[in-house]
Order: sequence, then structure tokens, then C-alpha cells
Amino acid sequence: MGLERGEGFVLRTREFAEADIIVTLFLRGYGKRTAIAKGARRLNSRLGGVFDLLNRVEVVFYPRDRLDLVSQGTLLDGYERLKRDLTRVNSALSVARLLDRLLPPHQEEDAPYRLFGRFLSGLVGEQSGRSRIAVELKLLSLLGHRPHLRACLRCGDRQGPFRFIPTRGGLLCRSCAGEEGIPVEAGLARALDWLLSHPLEKSGVVRLSEQEEKQADALLKEYIDLLSRGT
Ligand SMILES: [Zn+2]
Repeated sequence: MGLERGEGFVLRTREFAEADIIVTLFLRGYGKRTAIAKGARRLNSRLGGVFDLLNRVEVVFYPRDRLDLVSQGTLLDGYERLKRDLTRVNSALSVARLLDRLLPPHQEEDAPYRLFGRFLSGLVGEQSGRSRIAVELKLLSLLGHRPHLRACLRCGDRQGPFRFIPTRGGLLCRSCAGEEGIPVEAGLARALDWLLSHPLEKSGVVRLSEQEEKQADALLKEYIDLLSRGT
């Protein structure tokens, strides 16, 4: 195969050998690809700084089975404003990590790609974790793991309180769940279901307390950990 050209996001980087970088990219039209950028850590490299985390880049590469070979790289957007705020950086990194762990390699994923771009662009003005929680729920859904947050999966109870059961990808009411799973109050379940089923740009409508954000994070972490162990 000859040279290919793509545009996308840097999800993960690691140093390799003396001066190389191995970079995981999420490219429009190509999906998740891992590539080696030879000599990118040399002081005079034209690739210096291009493959920093969360950058949007254009890349020319030789596709190979496991590790593509970067021929050229250009920085398109470094999201400088976003990166000045640690909370927002951590939000963006959390979503990048989800994509790195759950995207199947070499598979075009157009809707998750567009959603991630919208998320990064909107994050500059975001003060809370709502849009991160919303985008993580939506990405899980787009990747075939939509969490069931509307009612108890066993008896259909909608009143709650509930527990989230990662192995079932959804809620059970307290009497069906017993001690299993992560506690979720009915109000939080409704808020998360709302975020999941409405456009990302509307997530500001939902109010979550600090405590609720923590519970949502715990739930997402357990679920994503479980899914990424299975892939
Ligand atoms: Zn039940």
C-alpha cells in the first residue's frame, strides 16, 4: 500500500527507543490507528510538538498491519485555550482515554469522530463535568454499549433508588440488585438518561451536584474498565 493522508486527534503517545514516538490517532475515515513517528523527539525534528496529546493533526503515513509509519505531520489545532485549564484538560483526557480503550482498531467511526470534535470545541466555555459525562455516555452508546438508565432491567421499576450493574450495562432497583453494583439515586439516573438522549450542546440544562458527578464518574469508570477488559 502507498502513502495515505488523514486528519484527526492524538489520543495517546509514548516514547519509544532513543528519539521516536508511538502515537495513537483517531483519524477521520480511518478510525483508530497506531503509528511510529521516527526521530520525532529530536530537537530539530519537523515533527516536534505535532503529536502532543489532544492535538488535531494532519498526517501522511504508510499503513502497515500493526504500526503505521508516519512520513509527515502537521499541527492543525493545539486547543491552546482549552489546555490552559487543568480541569478541562483532565476532562478531555478522560474522553480520549475512553476512545483509546474502546475504539476497535482500523475501523472508520464517523459519529464518534464528529462527537469528539464537537466536545473539544465546546469544552472551552465549560465549567463542570456535565459535557464530559454526556459525551462519555454517548460514545459508549455509539460504540454499541448504550447504558440502560431508565428503569430496573429485571422488574421495570422506574422509581428507584437503583444500583448500576456494569456486567449488565444498566440499572437494577435496590430489591432486585441486593448489595451488587454502584448506588444510583433516581434523580441521578434521570439526569444521566437525559444527557444520553439529548444533544451534547444542551447538557448545560442538567444540574449535577459534586456528589452526583462523583457517582456518575464511579459508574462510568467501572463500566469502561469492564468493557475494555473484554476487548
Ligand atoms: Zn427491580
